Amino acid sequence: MSTDNDSGNESRDSFETRTSCPLCHEELVVKWQGDEIPYFGEVMYITTSCSNCGFRFADTMIMTQKDPVRFELMVEGLEDLNARVIRSTSGTIRIPDLGIDVEPGSVSESYITNIEGILERVRSVVVTATEWVKDEPEAHERGLELQGMLEKAIQGELPLKVIIEDPLGNSAIISEKVISRTLSAEEAANLHSGMIVFDVDSSELEMDSSEKVQPIGNDYK
Ligand SMILES: [Zn+2]
Repeated sequence: MSTDNDSGNESRDSFETRTSCPLCHEELVVKWQGDEIPYFGEVMYITTSCSNCGFRFADTMIMTQKDPVRFELMVEGLEDLNARVIRSTSGTIRIPDLGIDVEPGSVSESYITNIEGILERVRSVVVTATEWVKDEPEAHERGLELQGMLEKAIQGELPLKVIIEDPLGNSAIISEKVISRTLSAEEAANLHSGMIVFDVDSSELEMDSSEKVQPIGNDYK
């Protein structure tokens, strides 16, 4: 009665904008929703989906200016698996113990999850990548091995280090244990923008997988 605002609850920090769909050019309504994350700050969730062609987009924008950042967490148990993670479209996830990097790519999306959720997502990427190499026996074998290791890590049975780097400072791991620092301009410039899943030098994997599978594109040991 008092207002013609039809967005109902949570209208305080939310609003809509209108644009045209990048795929079909029909009108697209973009929803903006503000939120405050404890110990982190203000964020804005941006979501849209095209009712005409099904195009979807979601991103999380951090509302304060941030430096390039690197967060490193040794994941050793349930508490660490529950640590909150903000991964924006510019965030690179690294699991050096498994030789896995998940870099921003055309299909990347932002999300707020926890370490367990990150490991689940990485596992699903590895499952897809393993499928791609099913005709290459050694690479396929390595993919299956990585899936098994991720499964153990998700159960809290395999300690491993999870690193998130973001040249735009839009990603974070929130934990008392986390080691965070600002990336140098050079490190930030070296972050990739393509998507590479895991590096498989299949001719050498059988000999010693732990030594031969290197994190991709890393300049720090
Ligand atoms: Zn559309």
